[in-house]
Amino acid sequence: MECSFCPRNCKVNRAEQAGFCRVKGLTIARVGIHEWEEPCISGTHGSGTIFFSGCNLRCIFCQNDAISRSAYGREISVDTLGKLMLYQQSVGAENINLVSR
Ligand code: SF4
Repeated sequence: MECSFCPRNCKVNRAEQAGFCRVKGLTIARVGIHEWEEPCISGTHGSGTIFFSGCNLRCIFCQNDAISRSAYGREISVDTLGKLMLYQQSVGAENINLVSR
């Protein structure tokens, strides 16, 4: 399938190769409860954050270089992503917080 997820519109098959964002497949860098988002998002138990690897911008001042420009992370399946969301719910996450760059 051709990736047109963002305005870069690379049209690469991310099952086989990385696009401008340097990410192949579905790659995540971190999953965890984030208690430091804005209070209306974190609530009392924290936000169930999932950080996606890669970025479509490549800003030279990025504070998340390892995750964004170097695309640090682990490739997972869509099924695993769903299970991670259910895990976040089971440990009390107030919501599911999908973070991309
Ligand atoms: S930069 Fe990445 S997310 Fe955006 S279209 Fe290209 S491959 Fe897809």
